[in-house]
Amino acid sequence: PNPGAMVIVVGADPGSLGSHQEQNERFYTWMFHFPCFEPHTPQECKDFTKLAFKLSEKYDTVIEIRTSTRSAHSRGYVKLAPLKKGLKKGKFIRNIPKFNSLPPHAINNHIRLYERIEAIRKIIPNLHVNKIYPGENSIGIITSGMSFGYSIEALRQLGIIDVPILKLGMIYPLNYEEIINFIKKLKKVIIIEELEPFLEVKIAEIAQKFKIDIEILGQEYFPKYNEFSTGLVANRLAKIFNLKSNNNKIDTAIEIFDSYKDMIPSRFPTFCAGCPERASLYAILKSTNNLENTIVCGDIGCFVMSFFPPQQCSDLIICMSGGLSAAIGMAEKTDQKVIALIGDSTFLHTGMAPLTEAANYDSNVLLFVFENNWTAMTGHQPVIGLSEKQLSIEKICNAVGISWIKIEDSYDPQHLIKTINEGLDTKGFKVIIVKRECALQAHRLREKKRKELSQQGKKIQETSYYIGGCQLCFECARIFSCPALRKVKINDLEEMQIDQERCIQCGVCYEVCPNGAIHKSIIHLFEEEVPFREL
Ligand code: SF4
Ligand code: SF4
Repeated sequence: PNPGAMVIVVGADPGSLGSHQEQNERFYTWMFHFPCFEPHTPQECKDFTKLAFKLSEKYDTVIEIRTSTRSAHSRGYVKLAPLKKGLKKGKFIRNIPKFNSLPPHAINNHIRLYERIEAIRKIIPNLHVNKIYPGENSIGIITSGMSFGYSIEALRQLGIIDVPILKLGMIYPLNYEEIINFIKKLKKVIIIEELEPFLEVKIAEIAQKFKIDIEILGQEYFPKYNEFSTGLVANRLAKIFNLKSNNNKIDTAIEIFDSYKDMIPSRFPTFCAGCPERASLYAILKSTNNLENTIVCGDIGCFVMSFFPPQQCSDLIICMSGGLSAAIGMAEKTDQKVIALIGDSTFLHTGMAPLTEAANYDSNVLLFVFENNWTAMTGHQPVIGLSEKQLSIEKICNAVGISWIKIEDSYDPQHLIKTINEGLDTKGFKVIIVKRECALQAHRLREKKRKELSQQGKKIQETSYYIGGCQLCFECARIFSCPALRKVKINDLEEMQIDQERCIQCGVCYEVCPNGAIHKSIIHLFEEEVPFREL
């Protein structure tokens, strides 16, 4: 008996809009022999998920639901069925061959993988997840997920209405009969899919296996990188269908989609106004004379953005805790100064292994632990252990034998610069724990407190920062670069201003300006002050 189901939802990201790379995970489904659904609409996301759980339980297999950036971010009405109450607890059923998949069971389990995938391949038509949109054209299209949406819109805009389309809801495995029946009537089939050709390879394999004489068009027309758009698909379909470039319909289709580019000004991703991590990076840049003879090993977290201009304060990003691991090697094999960065969530998740290694070898690395109390980049989840159990990163560092540990506040950049200098001048493994709450959360909590006090009729201090007598040195813009600071032109004269709507009054720019041109104003000086929460 199979005690449960396992469904993995993957957010594929062609175009790398929300993740670090364009990994094409569809090949894992082939490699690990697990079926994969690719929904296109919110309704399909729900329906396929339900189906995936049923199949997973019945066939004792892992099932993937593959969304992509666009489908994962789309919204729509979803028809629900009555919700069944699930069991709160199950019972582990001993199954040594299954859960101890080592020889001799490993080989039998490998055989079971083939048996399962072939059994599922046969029943795909009964699932009704693949759909045919009929047409008389001798050129057809096979596609799935968001590429189906781009294809439909592109065809409509090009005025091509007779192309048969096979929209796959399950992209692995493929049912042989379904594919053969669709392609055998065609002269050519266009495979429209983002990233490396996965469906194209599988369909070419079926055509060859069943000796079907058909031209398969895919990767020579469509890019194997970046996400598609209706404009791009329209452009490539126009070439395949030999539509002349002076065709009005093509121009309109492409122009509509190109026009969005002009409406949205491009800019680099950046830290929020008042972000403590930006202040720490500023201190690193200042203390190393803009990273002279210094390597900064970055890591995953909001500070992954540190490599963007203007700060450009990260030389490499690998994976969670990869920064410290790389730094240990860098310190061993170079005579440069080595700095590693890590966030508090990553530190507690996977950081302790390289921490112990660095402590063991006394690697000549200066490690920054950004303790901001939140897993900020993924939506402000509490840091497991830190927020609730009050784990002390300092005590953990101490326990693995690190003696040079400093606790710093990034809102005091001048003090932090001195400590970094001291750390870089000291041999061995050093840790600076920068404690300052994520600016978004700190600001929210402070505003809430202010509101509560106001509602109780209490007067509170109001602090604001403004610029006067600016020397246009641009230290605040180029090296520090808070997005609440902006350059404006008044009567043809450039000057820096603070955007009061965005400013959260962290006061770091006031500390940073070398010309004393950023001023602090306090109204109701003797009334109650509401500072940011101390960690
Ligand atoms: S506000 Fe200060 S740091 Fe910014 S440009 Fe003016 S003088 Fe330079
Ligand atoms: S006080 Fe200065 S650094 Fe802080 S948020 Fe406002 S403008 Fe940015």
